[in-house]
Amino acid sequence: MNKFTTQKHIFSMKYKVYTQKSFKKIPQIQNLSAEQIFDIEVLGEIFPFKVNNYVIDELIDWDNFNEDAIFRLTFPQKGMLSKKYFDKMAELIRNEAPTKEITKASNEIRLTLNPNPSGQAHNVPVLNGEELMGAQHKYNETMLFFPTQGQTCHAYCTFCFRWPQFTGLEGLKFAMKEVDLVIAYLKKHPEVTDLLFTGGDPMVMKSKVFKTYIDAILEADLPNLKTIRIGSKTLAYWPYRYTKDDDASELLEVFRSITDAGLSLSFMAHFNHISELKTAAVAQATKAIRETGANIRTQSPLLKHLNNDADMWANMWRKQVDMGMIPYYMFMARETGAQEYFGLTLEEAWTIFRDAYSQVSGICRTVRGPVMSANPGKVQVLGITEINGEKQYVLNFLQGRNPKWVGQPFFAKYNDKALWLSDLEPAFADKFMYED
Ligand SMILES: *Cc1c(COP(=O)(O)O)cnc(C)c1O
Ligand code: SF4
Repeated sequence: MNKFTTQKHIFSMKYKVYTQKSFKKIPQIQNLSAEQIFDIEVLGEIFPFKVNNYVIDELIDWDNFNEDAIFRLTFPQKGMLSKKYFDKMAELIRNEAPTKEITKASNEIRLTLNPNPSGQAHNVPVLNGEELMGAQHKYNETMLFFPTQGQTCHAYCTFCFRWPQFTGLEGLKFAMKEVDLVIAYLKKHPEVTDLLFTGGDPMVMKSKVFKTYIDAILEADLPNLKTIRIGSKTLAYWPYRYTKDDDASELLEVFRSITDAGLSLSFMAHFNHISELKTAAVAQATKAIRETGANIRTQSPLLKHLNNDADMWANMWRKQVDMGMIPYYMFMARETGAQEYFGLTLEEAWTIFRDAYSQVSGICRTVRGPVMSANPGKVQVLGITEINGEKQYVLNFLQGRNPKWVGQPFFAKYNDKALWLSDLEPAFADKFMYED
C-alpha cells in the first residue's frame, strides 16, 4: 500500500490569486479607504504583487491591517517609493495614460531601484565553454539551480530582490530546462556536495516536473552529491502544496525518493514572521514534509516595518523548533528595491539579533545572523567592540568566494549609518582581505 494514502486530501483547496490588476475584487479590501486603494494601484505598477486566498483568509489580520506584518509583506507600501516617483506614476494613472506610457515609466523607475544586486549575474557556471544560464556556482560546495518552471511564487513578498525576474525585464531571468547540463557540471565538479533548487519558488512546479528533475539526478548516482536543498516559501504562502493540492502526495513521494536514495533532503523554508506559523495548515504541511525524512531549516531577512522586533524573532525561533524546524539564517535586507523602507543599519540589526538570540535556548541557536549575502560572500556581523578606545565592527565570513576567508574574523571602522558591507571601511588595514 502506498505510504502516503493516509495523507491524501479529503477535498482539494482552490488556489485563487489576485494581482495589482485584480486586487480590488478581494472582499476584505473594502476595509481600506479609497486613498489607500489608489496608493496600492500606483505602487503596483512598479512593485508587481500577487496574493492568494490562503494569505488573505488565513494570514492577514484584516481588523488591524494597517499594523499587520503580513499585509505589508504582500501589498506594496507607500514608503517603498520616493515621493517623486510616486507622484509621477499617480499622475499617469489619474490621467488614464496609455498602458505603453505607464509601462515605460514603470521600467525607468525600476531600473533606478537596482534590480540585480550583489553580482547575481556573475556566478554563472561554465561547462565546456558554454554558460549554464539557469544555475549559479559561487561557493565551492553548493550549486544553485533555477528550474525554469519554478520562476514564480504562490504570492510575492514586497521586499523581494527577485522581483525583476517576474516582471519580464530582458536579460535578468535565469532559466534553464536542461537538468542534464547540471548533472554534467556536477560530474566535473566533485567539490559540489549540495544542489539547491531555488527560484522564485521551485515548489510552484507540478510534482511531475519536479520528479523529472529528481529522477534524472538520482539516476546519475553522483558520488559527490550528498544533499538536495529546496528553497521555498510554500509553507508560509501555500501549505496545501503538501496536503490538499491534487499532486501533493506525489510530491511527498518524490521527497521520499531522495531520502530513500541515501541523500539528505533539506527544505529551506522562508518564514518572515511568526504569524505565518499560526495555522493548522502549516502545522500539517510541516509534519507531512518531515515524515518524508526531510529536515526543515528556516531563514528570513530582517526588515523594518515587517519584523524588526527581537521578541518576535525569539518567539518565532522557539515555535519553529517546537514544530521540528531548525533556525538557520537571519539576513540583512539587500541593497535593492525599497531598501530605504525595509533596511536597518548593521548596528540596529545586530542589536535585534542579539536581543533575540540571548533569550532562547541553545537548541534555537543554530541560527546565524545578521548576515549580508554580499559579493565576496556571506558576512556575519559578530558585533561591535571597542579597541584602543575606538568602536569597531567585528565581521566574519560564513561563506566566501575564497574559502580561506571563512571563519577569519576581521574588523571595520564603526559607522552608525552603515546598511551594508559596501558602506564599511577596513580598520587596522588598508583594505579588506577580499579586496585583492
Ligand atoms: C547562501 C548561499 C549558498 C548556500 O550557503 P550555505 O551557507 O551552505 O547555506 C550557496 N550559494 C549562494 C549563492 C548563496 O547565497
Ligand atoms: S517567496 Fe521568495 S522568491 Fe518569492 S517573492 Fe517571496 S522572497 Fe521572493
